[in-house]
Amino acid sequence: MSEQHFETLAIHAGQEPDEVTGAVVPPIHQVSTYKQDGVGGLRGGYEYSRSANPTRTALEENLAALEGGRRGLAFASGLAAEDCLLRTVLKPGDHLVIPDDAYGGTFRLIAKVVERWGVTWSVVHSSDPEAVRAALRPETKAVWVETPSNPLLGITDIAQIADITRSAGVLLVVDNTFASPYLQQPLALGADVVVHSTTKYMGGHSDVVGGALVARDAGLGEELAYHQNAMGAIAGPFDAWLVLRGAKTLAVRMDRHSANAARIVEMLVSHPRVSQVYYPGLESHPGHEVAAKQMRDFGGMVSFRVTEGEEAAVQVCNRAQLFTLGESLGGVESLIEHPGRMTHASVAGSALEVPADLVRLSVGIESVDDLLADLAQALG
Ligand SMILES: *Cc1c(COP(=O)(O)O)cnc(C)c1O
Repeated sequence: MSEQHFETLAIHAGQEPDEVTGAVVPPIHQVSTYKQDGVGGLRGGYEYSRSANPTRTALEENLAALEGGRRGLAFASGLAAEDCLLRTVLKPGDHLVIPDDAYGGTFRLIAKVVERWGVTWSVVHSSDPEAVRAALRPETKAVWVETPSNPLLGITDIAQIADITRSAGVLLVVDNTFASPYLQQPLALGADVVVHSTTKYMGGHSDVVGGALVARDAGLGEELAYHQNAMGAIAGPFDAWLVLRGAKTLAVRMDRHSANAARIVEMLVSHPRVSQVYYPGLESHPGHEVAAKQMRDFGGMVSFRVTEGEEAAVQVCNRAQLFTLGESLGGVESLIEHPGRMTHASVAGSALEVPADLVRLSVGIESVDDLLADLAQALG
């Protein structure tokens, strides 16, 4: 059969109907150990569920297929995945380049934890390839990119950065959480590793915390798998099953998230109480052309600034009713939050600080008319 398309892979990759029962959905193998047929006689390679578990394997193969990589690995959270990656590829004395709009938890992991092990890092505006090139040092091991970024929806040209990292012999890591593999395929654009918080669009239903790594080549994939087992922050069987179920509807969900977000952006740009809207689908967005080139659509995340400042922005969040006030993103239900006081409070005072009058939306897949009505009343 010819290479299957994304929607088909999302539903079938890594999964066969159960051999014994014919169940069309892989079972949740809630098990820690496996009977051996004589010492060392493993059936299907499973010996202990930290090392491998069939439900997790199904998800890992699915993730690898969706990102077009050789190896997928599923973790207990996005940050557990990031920690495994950083401790696999970095050693004391190494240097890392990170973007000025990285996810707050990524920044905290690098600045507060990884740094203590003798790793140095520089912050750059990764939308500017020349700034990335200038930040490289002889001891640089990896460049970290997040596109679209959180919460300002900055866009980085993955193929252009990949040209720079490839010729410098440096690893390119892309956090693909905001786009999901349906909207953007970093490995095909030249990245070496993709990072996910599967808590967000991959899971898609705000009912699981998980993370993933997908490596472009088998060698790095093998090293990461070794560290995944050595460090132990794996996804449990039920969590793996939930993400696997989420993956099946990823394409249709992302289409609706993107369509609803586009309609909401249209309303916000002409609203008198909104001074600026951040959405890569807007032609006025500085990353619009790059986003149009490297993404299938522009996704469900939207941020905007409120004309009257911080207190007014907080009020908009508090007044929303259908948009639930809460952190996280990527679920079927719409969320609203104030990054300065919520998700990004930990980066206050750093290069990653966000505007105080900013509101961030994770646009869900409810009726867009109901979402528009709620935002209109919240803006007053
Ligand atoms: C949430 C998130 C993470 C961290 O993932 P957790 O599952 O919360 O550990 C990393 N990157 C991005 C872009 C995120 O949104």
